[in-house]
Amino acid sequence: MRRLDDRLRTIALATKGFMPEAEGDALFDAAHAACDELPGLPLAEIGSYCGRSTVWLGAVAAERGVSLYAVDHHGGSEENQAGWQWHDPAVVNHDGRIDTLPFFRATMRSAGLTEVVHECVGDSHAIGAEWTTPLALCFIDGGHGRDVARGDYHAWHAHVAVGGVLAVHDVFADPADGGQAPHDEIYRPALASGRFIEVGCTGSLRVLRRVSAA
Ligand code: SAH
Ligand code: MG
Repeated sequence: MRRLDDRLRTIALATKGFMPEAEGDALFDAAHAACDELPGLPLAEIGSYCGRSTVWLGAVAAERGVSLYAVDHHGGSEENQAGWQWHDPAVVNHDGRIDTLPFFRATMRSAGLTEVVHECVGDSHAIGAEWTTPLALCFIDGGHGRDVARGDYHAWHAHVAVGGVLAVHDVFADPADGGQAPHDEIYRPALASGRFIEVGCTGSLRVLRRVSAA
């Protein structure tokens, strides 16, 4: 298994966010495998927050000479808003709104990844609906409301090229372990479509490979 180097690992682990180390490492490995399969095609991340998972994916992009598109409106998900479980007052700006873009930029700058990681600041459904470039990997880690997760699945899954990877975070088969939206609205529909097979599972990360164009 390929490994993120220690300098970038230290930066990733010091960045605010929700990507456990073992799952970041599995994502890193899956991204390398996708680049082996589809050299030259870019990677996309849906839901970057402060750039924690982006360090693992951006490091792959830099090593492989491809782009990583980091899609996020940076206004936080429902579960990041004040009063919710995953709220962090440190990412609220002077207008009282969540704005993780300055944190994301600082992370990419300190990681030295600004040339390969391209910020796509906006609504993931709107951006995905007009996207035209085939992807070696699409990592979906956006909002966890049902409608948001469903919209991300519909907007993005077809952009993964055959042989490429659809990676989904926060997939919990058992409702006791976490919210069901990524499981019910992304992971299950992807498998049920017949276009994807599961090739990896680490914590709540599921790695699916696109096997069929139809
Ligand atoms: N991958 C990150 C965690 C992402 S948290 C890490 O490793 O820590 C989910 C992110 O999805 C939040 O930053 C939120 O702003 C973004 N998000 C939620 N719904 C969105 C939407 N509809 N369009 C764009 N971004 C969205
Ligand atoms: Mg997540």
